Amino acid sequence: MREEEAQAILDAGYAICPRCDGKLSVSTERRFLTKVSKLHCPSCNVFWEDIASFHTEMEQACINNLKKEGLSEPWPFEVPIMLGKGEVVYIVRSQVEFHEGKKQTFRSSGMGVSLRVAKGFWIHPRVGAGSAESEDIMKLIDVGSLVLTNRRLVFVGEKRSISTELGDLLAVDADADIGQAGYLCVAKEGKQRVEAYLMPMPNLMKEFILQAHEKNVLKG
Ligand SMILES: [Zn+2]
Repeated sequence: MREEEAQAILDAGYAICPRCDGKLSVSTERRFLTKVSKLHCPSCNVFWEDIASFHTEMEQACINNLKKEGLSEPWPFEVPIMLGKGEVVYIVRSQVEFHEGKKQTFRSSGMGVSLRVAKGFWIHPRVGAGSAESEDIMKLIDVGSLVLTNRRLVFVGEKRSISTELGDLLAVDADADIGQAGYLCVAKEGKQRVEAYLMPMPNLMKEFILQAHEKNVLKG
């Protein structure tokens, strides 16, 4: 990977080793005319030369940890929304692109919908390599932050803000492989359009939302 890519990972707050929780550093060496950088964990002495393999391992480790530990720690950084009394923030993702899809109506099955049960019932907004049809399907509306609390999923953009109670979510899915950037797709009761949020590691965000839903909606 390039030195800037490695540094960007440290700057983005992902500077923790996915294997041992040790602090990562950047190791750069010269090879002929070029410089090659690796992420390095001095504690367990592992190097990642390839950025994609690091992202894959990082996202998988975070998801596993979330499944094991649950939503234990509140978000330690600044939050772009006003919180209600007793409202706790789990995660904030910044620089998220909000896209809206074609008209689509979602209905619950009437059997008590959970996100896990509802997974997969909706249309994937997979974007092809620049075809006109794909542009029809997903349209960029705004860029902003996506905030998950114990009560709501909130998008705060420059033009638009959307607040959704966790109990109104019908389904959430990630349209990407682990470690890849892609769409986090959200379906709501009675909502007319697909909402999709383009971000790195959408599978991790999906797991956060599933955990928050289970903890605060299903278990009351
Ligand atoms: Zn390590």
